[in-house]
Formats: sequence, structure tokens, C-alpha cells
Amino acid sequence: MSLNNCPVCSSPDALSVFKKSAMPCYNLERHESREVALAARPGEIDSRFCRSCGFTYNAAFDPKVMDYQVDYENARSHSPRYLSYLGHIASTLAPYIPKGAASVVEVGCGSGEFLHALKPQTGAELWGFDPAIPEGTENKPGIHFVRDYYTKDSGPAPSTIVLRHIMEHIQDPYFFLDSLLPKNSRPILYIEVPAWEWIAKRLSFYAFSYEHCSYYSENSLRRMLAKIGYEVRYCAFDFDNEYLSCVAMPGKSRPYREDLDELLKDTAAFAESLPSLMKTMRESFSPEHILWGAAGKGTNLLNLIDCMYTDSPVVIDSNPRRAHTFIPRTGQEVIPPHEISNWHPRKILLTNSAYRAEMKKTIAECGVTADIVGLDEYLYRGVV
Ligand SMILES: [Zn+2]
Repeated sequence: MSLNNCPVCSSPDALSVFKKSAMPCYNLERHESREVALAARPGEIDSRFCRSCGFTYNAAFDPKVMDYQVDYENARSHSPRYLSYLGHIASTLAPYIPKGAASVVEVGCGSGEFLHALKPQTGAELWGFDPAIPEGTENKPGIHFVRDYYTKDSGPAPSTIVLRHIMEHIQDPYFFLDSLLPKNSRPILYIEVPAWEWIAKRLSFYAFSYEHCSYYSENSLRRMLAKIGYEVRYCAFDFDNEYLSCVAMPGKSRPYREDLDELLKDTAAFAESLPSLMKTMRESFSPEHILWGAAGKGTNLLNLIDCMYTDSPVVIDSNPRRAHTFIPRTGQEVIPPHEISNWHPRKILLTNSAYRAEMKKTIAECGVTADIVGLDEYLYRGVV
């Protein structure tokens, strides 16, 4: 059933951005065989931008099909750049955590990489909840893991709730936040999401996935928080503007000037350019052109342009837990970097050129001399 009103502000006035009939429901699910990967469950995308608040949502999303207890892998702690970013946001959040007997809950903590970055910055007890905490993740002094969903009935109310890269998976933010926030003891919220501003401006179409049913702009995030009685104390674009980070406390929202003209213009231009962008990108792939990055964006990209394993057989990824698994629905085998030389690539295509320096060093160590092309730079600037 299609959603006809914006989940943030209820407006029906929306711009159609993009449609696709069959994307994998889980783009980070690990598949141990090509046969299983090719049969991964499909979901439909009908992406719409709300002209009233600047929120982008998948009107065809069905929350009932999602279950994050699948074999799911989202750790990125193998990247030095990402680890440095985690340290940066931990030090941004720490001053807002109350002193004393405070506790912090991270909802959807994965392997706990953010809690480990936060621990040196705070005396608070840290709790990570996630039904998909990887096997072998162990409690440390002051860091506790619970392999389950978190709700306000899970234990004593924490002083702070961390929601990093969670809200983009949630169709109805009000229903979800109501399930987390006790009525009489409202915690501080730290929310981090992909920024729609960055996606639209950078023409980053491979952000589209079935899982990410909700994309916030700064305006829509502020609108949503104001509606639940939260005051924004910190709001910034981070990770080279790709992410939107926000600390909010219970209280009356401060005046914020809403101006969606530029974002609407960028979004309309993005929507219009999508067919030709996808065609160009499709033509960039051949067996000699190998994609680096099997996590979310890589899986999205291959599926969005219908690039099957018969056209481009492998994808490189430095996460050892992904090695020799298969991309859902397009079937590429994921190979670790030290196997690159077996495939004699002429070009290596990166979904995010921010990792270029790391990749360049790695392929040089493997004795490979292929060009490294940032697909995001190509989309943004039209240059390779
Ligand atoms: Zn809206």
C-alpha cells in the first residue's frame, strides 16, 4: 500500500524523485552462496520529496518485511578515516551527557564501534542494544551489550539515547521515538543520519536502498524534533557533509528559518538527471572495471543499474567478514584486497572517493597499478 502523506509533516505535496521495482530488502545482508544471493527478497522504491518540510521518503516501503535479525554486517571500523570520525563525534556528544550516574543507550549499536570511541570521553555506563550484535562481541568495563531491540521498558531510563544511522530505516519517526522515550524522564537524543542535502547536491543516486525508507534534511529533522517537544542544541553537517548530526534536549524548539527553495531546486535537478546518470554509470562497468565497496552503497549501485555478476564478476571489500560472500540480487563475489591482482583490473571504481588514499596504498601493496576512479566525483563534477 502506498504512503500518500509525508511521515514527518503529513503534507501530501511531494515531488516524485525515483522509482525502482526490485531492490534487495537488505543491502548489508551476508549471503554465503551466489544462488541464495540472487534469490534475495526484493522490495519496491517510490522515493518522494516533501515540498513542505524537505523530507524524502519511500512511499512503497513496507516495514513489515524488515527484520534486522538476518545475518547483517555493518562494521566499518577497519577504516582509519571512519575511526577518526567516530572519535570526533564522541567528543562532540560527550559534553552534553549529564555528569554523575548517567547511562547512555545506543540503539542499533552493531559491533559497538561508537561506544568504544565514546567510553574514553565519559564516565557514564554505556549500553548497546541490537538484535544483530556480531558473535564474539564482549562486554568491557563500562560497556554492556544486549542482543535485542531496545524499548522504554528495557530497563531504567538512560540519560542519553544515541541513534546513529537508525532513523533512515524508520518509516514513522513518531511511533518509533514514542517506543523509546519514557513519558516522565526524557533523555537527551543524539541523532545522526545521511544528509539529503548531500545526496541531492552530489547526485549520489546510489544512496537509494530499500532499507533507507527515510532521508532527512536539516529542516525535516528539526521539524520532527520540534514536534516531539525537543530543542536542538547542536546540528551540523559532518563527515565531509555527508552526515547530519544533531543533539537535542527536551524543551521548546528555538526559532529556525525554514527555507526549502534551494533544496527543492537541487532535488528536482537530481530527479531529472537520474536516468542519464544511471545509463552512464552502467556503461562504466566491464570485467576490467571493478567496484570497491560491497557495503550499502556498492550493493545499491549494482542493483540500481542492473549490473549482474556476468557483466562485472567481483567487488573488492576490505572488511574480512564480507570476503567471499555474494552481493544480493546481482550476485558478484566479494573479494578481499589481497586477491585484486588475480583479476587484473584496469580501473577500480570507488563509491566514496574520501577513501581514495587508503585504497591507493592498499592496491600498491598488492602490486596493482589500476587507476582509481571516484564515482561520486564523476557524478558531482562530471570528471574522471
Ligand atoms: Zn513533510
